[in-house]
Parts: sequence; C-alpha cells; structure tokens
Amino acid sequence: ESGKKNISLIVVGHVDAGKSTLMGRLLYDIGELTEKEKTANERGSKKIGKGSFAFAWGLDALGDERDRGVTIDIATTHFATPHRNYTLLDAPGHRDFIPAMISGAAQADVALMVVDGSPGEFEAGFERGGQTREHAWLVRSLGVKEIIVGVNKMDLVSWSQDRYEEIVEALKPFLVSAGFASAKTTFMPLAAMEGINIVENDVDELKEWYTGPTLINALDKVEVPSRPYDSPLRIPVSNVFKGQTAIASGVAVSGRLCSGVVQVGDRLRAVPGDEVATVRTIEVDEDTSSYAVSGQNVTLYLSGIDSINLSIGTILCPTSLPVPLVSKFITQILVFDLQSPIIVGTSVELFHHSVNLPATICRLVNVMEKGQVLKKNPRVLQKGMTATVEIALRSSSNNNARIPIETSQENKEMGRVLIRRNGETIAAGVVTELLG
Ligand code: GDP
Repeated sequence: ESGKKNISLIVVGHVDAGKSTLMGRLLYDIGELTEKEKTANERGSKKIGKGSFAFAWGLDALGDERDRGVTIDIATTHFATPHRNYTLLDAPGHRDFIPAMISGAAQADVALMVVDGSPGEFEAGFERGGQTREHAWLVRSLGVKEIIVGVNKMDLVSWSQDRYEEIVEALKPFLVSAGFASAKTTFMPLAAMEGINIVENDVDELKEWYTGPTLINALDKVEVPSRPYDSPLRIPVSNVFKGQTAIASGVAVSGRLCSGVVQVGDRLRAVPGDEVATVRTIEVDEDTSSYAVSGQNVTLYLSGIDSINLSIGTILCPTSLPVPLVSKFITQILVFDLQSPIIVGTSVELFHHSVNLPATICRLVNVMEKGQVLKKNPRVLQKGMTATVEIALRSSSNNNARIPIETSQENKEMGRVLIRRNGETIAAGVVTELLG
C-alpha cells in the first residue's frame, strides 16, 4: 500500500522473555501466518522437541530456515499495521544474538523490548549481566532513539497493576539514563502466548485499569525518525603498547568509545594517517568480548598496522566514515577566570581528549547572551562571557598541524574542547563549525 511509512524494528530482551512468542503471535494476529501454517508449526515444534509454543516458530517458518532451528543471518520479515509498513530485522531468540543484533540495530528505527513480568524473572533480566540492560545500551549506542517495552507474561501475575507499575518504575529511569528521551519510551502489559493486548485489550482484569495502547497501536504511531546522523565509531587512543597476554599479542591500544560499536574483525582507520588496522581481540574490563559499545573502556589488539602509526590522540574510526582532520574551526566558549582578557592573537593550548596542541585565538566572532548575539566582533573577552571564536592550530615549519575533531552536533564527545593558558583552564567550548 502506498503512502505508508516504512519502519525497521528490532526485538530485544532477556532470553526467555517471550520475544519469539510475541513476534510469532503478532504476525499471526495480523494475518501473515495462515491457520494452515500454524497447524504445521505445532507439529514441527513437537518433532524438533523445543516444546515451546507453536507461535515461537512462526518467524523461522517465514524465514524459510526452520530445519536449522535457528536463524543465523539477518532474516528480514515484513508486516503491516494500519499506518506503517514494518521490516522486522533479525529473528530473535537464538544464542548468538549479539553480532546479528549489532548489524540489525544499526538499521533499526525502533526497538521492541520484551521483559518477563513474572515474579523474579523481570529482576533476573534486569540485574547487572542481564540482557535487558545490555540490549538497551546496545540499541541506543547504535542510534535507535525510540523504544517500546512489552511487559510480557502478565497472565502469570493475574494482570496485577502493582506489578506492572513496579516494572515500569524500575525500567523507565534506566532507559532514560541509557539515553532514551522519556517521550520516546512506551510501555504496555502483554500476554504474548494468549495474544492479549497485542491487537486488542480484551481481558476484563486488564481493562479495569489499563487504557493505554495495544502493541499494534504503539507500533502504528512510531514516528519515522529522520536519522540525520548517527555518530559512527570513534575511539580516541589513550595508550599504545605492545600487548602480550595469554590470549593475544601484537600492537595494542586502549581508549574509551565516544560513540558507536566495535566488533572483532572490524577494519578501522587510524586518523591522522591512512593506515587501516584489523581488530583481532577486544578486552572490556579485562575479559575478552566480541564487541564493545560507546561508553566502554577497551583494549584492542590490532593487526595490519605498525605501532609507529598509532599515538596517543589517534582516533580509530570506520574506514567508510573517518573523522575529519582540520587546522581551524569555530567554537562557542564559556570564559572562565582570567588573569588577562582574551584578544585576537591570544596563544593558548587546545585540549581535546588525550592530546594538547598549541593554538591561537585568531578571530573573536561575537559575544552571546541567552542564545542571542549581543555584540559582533568584540575586541576582548572577559570572565563569564559566552562567545564565539575561531581557533587555529599553530604550525611549525616542518609540521602542518591538524587535529581530528568534529562539530558537537555531529558527535557530542568529539566536539568538546578545553582551552588553557599558562597552566590555567581559561575556557571550555563546543565546536560548531569546521573550517578546513
Ligand atoms: P525468547 O527467548 O525471548 O524468544 O522467548 P520465547 O518466545 O521462546 O518464550 C520463552 C518461554 O516463555 C516459552 O516457554 C513461552 O511459551 C513462554 N511464554 C511466552 N510468552 C508467554 C506469556 O505471555 N505467558 C506465559 N505464561 N508464558 C509465555
């Protein structure tokens, strides 16, 4: 049907929360699975011995992969709500979910998170190490901004409003702390197995207190995000060393992911420079991991690169989306305590992540107040002012200085600078424009 918006959905949540059952039931309820297929699935799932509800096999049946019992590649399935066309990325529920999810979530517009509402089970999934937290962080790091949470298996708690609210009150602040805007989180009570509150809320116990959306209603209202720019991987290198552990050896770097996700096998460009390295091993908190997400401190063992081409301040990025390298940029600064005012030509040290470079304030563009320009081309900047300035790195005769940096609109963490003079921090700024 034309005119409908297209949305990509990824389903996440702790193992056994009911993801497969829910998606199978959803597809069935909206008519993608015929009665006949359902009967065949019931027989099939008994034969294979999973003993799970027939609907849990719905996805694999549609994906044509049911003999293998799991879906390894990203299998996409399509379904439609009255106003939206959905692409379901990946079939949930199998063991090796994370790598597939990383590829899937990178394209997702919205995440459907399923949590198990039954006693003790929500808590188990929500604990440290539980997949509820991990998946939420992961999808948000990958640029997904909207999340729908289905509190499932409400039949097992007799549709208790208290239980539902207890879960929402624990999850919502967590999702907000993970970076979802409160308005971009929607919750609803469900029973996937019985198909309750998926298309219709037709249970009296639930109707008594719940007047919010069904799953279909919520899916039908998801806004198509413009996804102007989801920050790609950026790892500012804070240390370079020759790694030698029981599990890995070679050139190693450590640093914190400012944005994005890194996986074993990724090819990364080291900026400045043209060198490309391959990620062999990832360590997070001294354990190996197949991936890491923004906010985590990692040690990466690299191949294909000489340590000469890596230094403190190098930014590791995807080869297709390297960080720009500039010698001049515009920044909006807040001026701190000053011994003498800032004027055109003031020499400073520019601090950006682990590097500091000599620079000059080469233009005072304006002084701002409450977001408005108060004065253009001011002659001096004093303590407490908010101002826009142009900063140029100072090149020496044999070195045309450039720094890997981005505007803060593009990447918050890559767009922050500190400005120091004579050992004092005189201003903090956000980069607003790159000048080349
Ligand atoms: P997944 O690992 O998240 O994909 O979970 P599954 O869909 O395989 O479901 C895990 C188990 O929970 C299965 O035994 C399902 O039958 C059961 N289950 C799923 N939804 C419900 C529900 O709404 N109520 C009850 N009582 N059990 C459910």
